[in-house]
Amino acid sequence: MVMGDLVDEVDVAVVGGGPGGYSAAFRCAELGLEAVVIDADRRLGGACLFEGCIPSKALLHVAAVVSEAERAKELGVDFGEPRISLDPLRKWKQERVVGKLARGLASVAKAKGVEVIGGRAVFADSSTLHIEGETLQKIRFKHAIVATGSRPAPLPGLTLASERVMDSTAALELPEIPERLLVIGGGYIGLELGTVYAALGSRVTLVEMTPGLLPGVDRDLVQPLQRRVEKLFAAVHLETKVTALREVGAEIEAALEGQGAQRYDRVLVAVGRRAQSADLGLETTGARLSERGGFIVVDDRGRTDDPHLYAVGDVTGEPMLAHRAMRQGKVVAEVLAGQPAAFDNVAIPAVVFTDPEIAWCGLSEAQAKAQALTVKVSKFQWAASGRAATLGRSDGLTKLVADADSGRVIGVGIVGPGAGELIAEATLAVETAALVEDVAATVHTHPTLSETLMEAAEQLLG
Ligand code: NAD
Repeated sequence: MVMGDLVDEVDVAVVGGGPGGYSAAFRCAELGLEAVVIDADRRLGGACLFEGCIPSKALLHVAAVVSEAERAKELGVDFGEPRISLDPLRKWKQERVVGKLARGLASVAKAKGVEVIGGRAVFADSSTLHIEGETLQKIRFKHAIVATGSRPAPLPGLTLASERVMDSTAALELPEIPERLLVIGGGYIGLELGTVYAALGSRVTLVEMTPGLLPGVDRDLVQPLQRRVEKLFAAVHLETKVTALREVGAEIEAALEGQGAQRYDRVLVAVGRRAQSADLGLETTGARLSERGGFIVVDDRGRTDDPHLYAVGDVTGEPMLAHRAMRQGKVVAEVLAGQPAAFDNVAIPAVVFTDPEIAWCGLSEAQAKAQALTVKVSKFQWAASGRAATLGRSDGLTKLVADADSGRVIGVGIVGPGAGELIAEATLAVETAALVEDVAATVHTHPTLSETLMEAAEQLLG
């Protein structure tokens, strides 16, 4: 199809091989459109597979094993102190988890006839891409889908070029287990990777600039996690900024507002992610970027302001979650195939894979209140769950938000082990506009944590 400078035209050129890009390309192929994916990495998977969701969850599984073993002491089972060997751990994460999934994606691409081209793609105009790889290639397309994702945001004004100051990508490589780790940012990444390093033996200090961890999430859901990290971490400083970072020998000195200068062996910066929309040649096309965040502006069909360009995933804005990108990717492929598809989902679940996990979908209680909706809220404490008791984990909460007039479930929040799996049923309830009665009258297996959603529904009905 593309050889050297030879130009051919494809139906769909997908720029970026992460979950948004590969989902779009696979769906295009299924619908009879010829699709190629261009990725600088020359393999499918993107940030999610190589430097995000997957490696972090592999390491969080290890953290969970360590903390379960620790908890087992209370149950009369003592496994002794864990001895951690980084080489086998890295190898397992890299080869048996990431490598295996990458090979799986490559074989799906092959089976579906989706070509993956290695190189950096830059738009030359609304129908041409230049690909800077081993050779300079040109590709013409009827439509392009931009799925270039996001990258870790730097710490404003405090960039320090030192291998001891890591972003999430570097931290997931597990270069070592630092004795003292400073985590800057109390969001998804700070909490997940802070949990991993603390379980592996680091003394973790976390600083968050706002008054609470996970800003934007209902406080009653965050509380059990906060109590846990306050025990697991050496220190959690809220409403605290880092005002200076400097390298001193093999240490990093950080000035924490109100705490003075402290020394750490490594620092993890996790203060958000930024859209990768620059240096793509988008200015040669009609696509428009948002003023805040530089996201590519799209409608519910993934259309940009340029009729030939579509975009999906993190590069189109919040929430920057792989499953949102995947759904958007499938929608755009269906739109290109002439189907009446739209990204009109009401519930996009979010999960923080800490211990306990926090998951939510639809409207939070705070959002419902901010929108002045008349809602009924029910909170089912896991202290009353038989399954939670058998797990020794009664600190969870399942919270249901319903529209008071229609009785429909409009939001659910869960904190507790397994919340990330439990949120699936809640998402289906919100997406299909289930009534609280439907959830209450559905038979849930006993004894399971899934019953807590039913119990919350029953409680709401009084
Ligand atoms: P985030 O937006 O979740 O959290 C960043 C945190 O850093 C916020 O609490 C913010 O108040 C704080 N902060 C910002 N500037 C700071 C400063 N100078 N000093 C101290 N604190 C500061 O961002 P993240 O944790 O970097 O994650 C980025 C994105 O990646 C997330 O928004 C999410 O979309 C995605 N992600 C998802 C998952 C998941 O689905 N489980 C996991 C990891 C990342």
